Amino acid sequence: MKDQTIQVHGGYTTEPTSHAVVPPIYQTVAYEFDNAQYAADLFNLVKPGNIYTRLMNPTADVLEKRMALLEGGKAAVAVASGQSAIEYALLNLAKNGNNIVSVPQLYGGTLTLLTSVFADLGIEGRLAKSDSPADIEALIDENTRAVYCETIGNPAANIVDISALAEVAHRHGVPLVVDNTVASPALCKPISFGADIVVHSLTKFCGGHGNTMGGIIVDSGRFDWKKYGSKFSQFTAPEKSYHGVVYCDSFGDVAYAARIRTVFLRNTGAILPPQSCFMILVGLETLSLRMKQHVSNTIAIAEFLKKHPKVAWVNSAHFPDSKYHELAVKYTKGSQSGLLTFGLKGGKEDGAKFYDSLRLFKRVVNIGDSRSCVTHPASTTHRQLNSEQLKNAGIGEELIRLTIGIEDPEDLIADIDQALAQI
Ligand SMILES: *Cc1c(COP(=O)(O)O)cnc(C)c1O
Repeated sequence: MKDQTIQVHGGYTTEPTSHAVVPPIYQTVAYEFDNAQYAADLFNLVKPGNIYTRLMNPTADVLEKRMALLEGGKAAVAVASGQSAIEYALLNLAKNGNNIVSVPQLYGGTLTLLTSVFADLGIEGRLAKSDSPADIEALIDENTRAVYCETIGNPAANIVDISALAEVAHRHGVPLVVDNTVASPALCKPISFGADIVVHSLTKFCGGHGNTMGGIIVDSGRFDWKKYGSKFSQFTAPEKSYHGVVYCDSFGDVAYAARIRTVFLRNTGAILPPQSCFMILVGLETLSLRMKQHVSNTIAIAEFLKKHPKVAWVNSAHFPDSKYHELAVKYTKGSQSGLLTFGLKGGKEDGAKFYDSLRLFKRVVNIGDSRSCVTHPASTTHRQLNSEQLKNAGIGEELIRLTIGIEDPEDLIADIDQALAQI
């Protein structure tokens, strides 16, 4: 099936007892065992079936199947948020003494997770000098267990050469993990370019309405864990925490996803509640339709800003003179999703004045909402930094980040126009 059909139908056939055409919310914790043998078969993983909602839930199952289909993966595990998806995805690969090599342009929470939270667990997050394959390769050694990137960096809006990074990772026998939140599977499918694991914040474009948090990990089923001896022994040797199961033997090509469920979900518990799965499934039905509007609105606004006398620069991969244009054509349908950054000719004060003058745009830190959102990092999220520190972080005082919603573009442009007139 094609994307728009998967978004509506994927992973669900009319439920046989109720005949409900919309996937129901299974608001239940436990599932009754027919008898002792049935329970034993489930626990021994010889029969599929529901046990307890901290492990699996029928509403979550539809979302997992639908996202796996959309990303071209073999299996998926839904979790509480994008951050828990990234945490589980990487802890399933690396342990104390290992390292993860990443591009430097990352979501703020991921940056802290890699460089601070993981560091305390003895896992080193190594940030490359740039997102170039050569800079990534320079940091890989025998203790590296993953290469990490974002398809479209948030907030930098850089576009990563996924095929080239996959090649570098595979040459060194490690998987490539890609955060596909900003592009969404409607604009890019990293697995088709060689990624092994895809993670998402479903909170953003996938859910799409700014009303539900969620995350997911998609397993391509393609990485050969057995090929590298004891390097990935968590999949190839008996698992202490689940009565000696050998994941590659019991689960074949979905060993990675299975271990996220039985080790991390089961024992640390960041599940996505059934109600949230339902909300995200409703959002997903219109993903491709919404992405078209996010992208065309973003281009219309980029073109308007580019011509405005008070605007110094506009960063959009849509323009042929952007250094990311070619990568955008190859990976993200020529767009940079709904992300748009630009600089005002005036400095910090003008930025704050513009920010305060917007009427329709929401002053929030969220992205991927149906509502258009604005951030002025220098006077809000990065207020504590001086101009020198802002420059080092790649955030000028004049930088405004917009994430464009699905409203009518004329209304959005009129709002930006009147706010620019205030400065
Ligand atoms: C928002 C975001 C996250 C974190 O997701 P939450 O659902 O807020 O935990 C991770 N990566 C990217 C690129 C994001 O934009």
